[in-house]
Amino acid sequence: MDDSAALCKTLSVLFTALGYAVRLASNGFSALDAIRAATPDVLLSDLNMPEMSGYELLSVVRRRFPSVRVIAMSGAFTGMAVPAGVAADAFYEKGQRPILLLRIVEGIMRPRHAQAMHPSRSGAPIWIPTNGHNTSGEPYVIITCPECLRAFPQVLDKSSSEILDAKCAYCANPINYAIVPSAETMLSQN
Ligand SMILES: [Zn+2]
Repeated sequence: MDDSAALCKTLSVLFTALGYAVRLASNGFSALDAIRAATPDVLLSDLNMPEMSGYELLSVVRRRFPSVRVIAMSGAFTGMAVPAGVAADAFYEKGQRPILLLRIVEGIMRPRHAQAMHPSRSGAPIWIPTNGHNTSGEPYVIITCPECLRAFPQVLDKSSSEILDAKCAYCANPINYAIVPSAETMLSQN
C-alpha cells in the first residue's frame, strides 16, 4: 500500500506474477478493514500515508494481529534497518529495486526467521500524531492506553523526536509512545 499509485501497481503486478495473492489498500483504515476480513501473511506499508500514518497502522497491526509479518517502506530513511520504534520486521527503502523487496519478503516468510524477528508486543511504541496546542499553548498529544483503552492528554517536551515514556492517567500502565513525523519533517531529513 502506498500513496504513490504507480509503485503500488508495479509491486502488485510483480508479486501476483510470482504467485502471491495481493490486496491493495489506499490508506491505513482500509488496510485494517482488509486485514480484519482475512489476515495476510505479509503486510507492506508506506510510513507516510494520509489520515492514519504507517507508523500508527503498524503499531495497531503488531498489537491486534501479531502473526502478520510487516515490512515498512519509506523514502525518508536509507538502508535496510527498521527505523527506531517502528513496529516492523523489515524495512524496504523506496526507490530500491523491487528484487530487493522480493528477497525481504522471502526472508521473512521463512518460519524460523519470523519467530526470531518478532519483537515483544509490549516493546512496540504507540505512534501518535500531534494534536496541536492545548489552552495553555503547550503542544500535546492524546494517548489511548493499550491496557484500559482510555484516552488522556499528554503535554510534549520540546525535544520529542524519540521514543517517550508515559504512565496511563487512569491505570498507571507504562506506555511507550512516539510522535509521527509530519510530512515536512520527513522531507527535511533527506
Ligand atoms: Zn490505562
